[in-house]
Amino acid sequence: MAEAKAPPKDANQEEEAKKAISAAEDALADLIADGKDTKDAELDLDLARDAMKEGDFAGAIELANLARAGPEKVKAVKKEKAKPDVGKLKCPGCDEELQPEWPTCPVCGYKTRGD
Ligand SMILES: [Zn+2]
Repeated sequence: MAEAKAPPKDANQEEEAKKAISAAEDALADLIADGKDTKDAELDLDLARDAMKEGDFAGAIELANLARAGPEKVKAVKKEKAKPDVGKLKCPGCDEELQPEWPTCPVCGYKTRGD
């Protein structure tokens, strides 16, 4: 490689902006698939794309991150709500909380394992 030209300074930033926008697009696509209201985020994303076209990569990154921040908050809340009670077993016999490794209920002797 003779005389390798250094890329223009904002080439990296352009790459960053592209990544930020596509990350925001992914986050939005997830929400849209879930039937969530993404109007605000889509607006931010549009602005980010506009900024990108105008060569304002820093602005595009900021707006894309903004577009992503809202949906991710919604997502985080959703995750929390959807969290199943993994590892919490209740004895069908007496409603005592059972540990998954217990073969029988210590209170009423209910067999938690079929075998
Ligand atoms: Zn029991």
